[in-house]
Parts: sequence; C-alpha cells; structure tokens
Amino acid sequence: MILKERKVPLRILQSEALLRRLSPEHPLIPIIQEDLRKRRAGFRGEQDVDRHLELLADEDFTIFHDVRLLFGNHYFQMDTLILTSYFAVILEVKNIFGTLEFDLGLKQLIRKANGKGEGFLDPITQVKKQEYIFRKWLLENKINQLPIKSFVVISNPTTILKVQNNEELRKYVTHLHNLYQILLEYKQHHQSLKLEVKDLRRLSKKIIKSNTPVTSNSLEYYNLKKEDIQTGVICPECGTSPMMRKCGVWICSYCRATSKSAHVQALSDFFILLKPTITNQEAKTFLHLSSRDQTYTILKKSNFSSTDSTKNREYFLPTILQ
Ligand SMILES: [Zn+2]
Repeated sequence: MILKERKVPLRILQSEALLRRLSPEHPLIPIIQEDLRKRRAGFRGEQDVDRHLELLADEDFTIFHDVRLLFGNHYFQMDTLILTSYFAVILEVKNIFGTLEFDLGLKQLIRKANGKGEGFLDPITQVKKQEYIFRKWLLENKINQLPIKSFVVISNPTTILKVQNNEELRKYVTHLHNLYQILLEYKQHHQSLKLEVKDLRRLSKKIIKSNTPVTSNSLEYYNLKKEDIQTGVICPECGTSPMMRKCGVWICSYCRATSKSAHVQALSDFFILLKPTITNQEAKTFLHLSSRDQTYTILKKSNFSSTDSTKNREYFLPTILQ
C-alpha cells in the first residue's frame, strides 16, 4: 500500500519556471539548465524505483515516497521508506550513469564516464546516517524494537559498480532489478512481530502528519533579483510574451495563437518563484491586465482560496504546488 505518493519536486518546478521567465541571455541559464537536468535524472530514477515497488503492493508493505522529518533541529529526508510490522527499510535512490567506484575508506564515490572523473557524496555514509537518525526518531515516538535496513538503489541498469570491499557494498548497495528479491529475502529473515497493526497504523499516521515538504527560494539560491523575473502571460504555442487579453481570451501578438487558460501557468510561476500569495494589484501587474475588475474575474475563476477582506484580499498558492 502506498501511503504517500511522490510529487514532482519543487526545485524542478522552480527551475522550469526560471527558464521560462529569465531573459534568454541571462548568464545563469546554462547553470540552471544543468541543475535541472541532474534533478530530472534523479526524479526519473526515483520514479523507476516506485514502479518496481508496485510489484510488492500485496506484500503488506506500507510505502512512503519522499519523506522529510524533523529530529532535534534538523530535517532528514528519505527517498522511500517502507514500513511493515516486522521491520523498516530506507531507500536512497541514485540515478548516475557510468562506472561508480566506492572508496569505503575515504567515504567517497567517484563516477567515471566519458574519460572524466567526478566526485559525489558517499551514498553509503548518507543512508547509514538516515538509518541512525530514523532510529532515534522512532525512539522518540516510543518505538524501539523495529529493525531498520537501508539501501542505496542504483536505478540505472547500465551503471557499473566497483569497490575494494564487496561484502560491505553488497550489504548497502543494490541495482534496482535486485531490489524486489532483496526485500522479499529480508522479509523472510524477519518474521518476528514488532508492531501490532494498530501501532503500525499509528506510526504511519504520525509520519504523514510530521512530513514537512522542503521549502526553497530559488531566487535566493541563484542570487537573482525579483526584477530578473519577466512578467506577462507566455504564449503556449511559440513562447512569446506577453499575450494580450481581449474579450476573455489571450492572444499572441507574434503567432496569433489564442488561449483561454494561458494565465494559469503565469500565476503558477508567480507563486513558485515570487510569493505563495497574490493580491489583485500584483496579479494585474504580473499578467499585464488593464483593470482591477478584469483581474478579479480571472482570480475568481481560478478558484484559489483567499482571505475574506475585499480590500486587500490575498489569494493563496494552490495545494497542488505546495
Ligand atoms: Zn505565439
């Protein structure tokens, strides 16, 4: 049973919005494109793992994708958490192509591809740390018996793994196509009941309630100014901005395409790049509209939740983007 689905990460949505809204000549464009490429590869790897885990839907596994919990003053994030009445498993997903050399002594991971070497954070150290903190988090929630196992899952089937100490690697790293087998074997070896059904349910609820999605301000991250973000409704056909609003439709001055809903993406860009709330005045400026009434009609039709006061009413970020 999947209790928490995976959503497109906010950082991917933000990078896509930035690439739409920065001037094409902006010097940061290549950096944001590269960052987006890496994040999309990571997300694709996680989705591949999710598809494999669907095979285990009838195995009494309770699955949580992308969980971020607070312990002490720090958040820790797990790509996937599997809970059963007998054990818990944490998965850290890596979608990295090429040859991966694990240096377990120096705790580093080197990827060799296309004749070049590149260093990565050692994912084994990373999962061991997650396991350690999750154990503490469980203790804090009065659960002290549950065995926890963590794995680094290599989602790209062509990735070659190299290491000096194969035993240690086998304990912590697996290719995705082995994961199914490993989880079933682990289940066979852990048959002693640690959590009653009601306790498992209570713990699951607690995890869902405590999950805190990451917040990120992409303008701060890339050191951009508000003024760098180009306003206006972008033509869904040719990418030209701004479209003009005439008789209830958006019209592109370049390709003449028309759209009834092109403002939806513009408002979404505003929310994820600039601010989680928007006023009539801000929407009017951002969408290049001519009147307060015209803006009111669009915001009202968008069905955003809003504050009650009419004068300085603020409309809120839709939950789908939170
Ligand atoms: Zn156009």
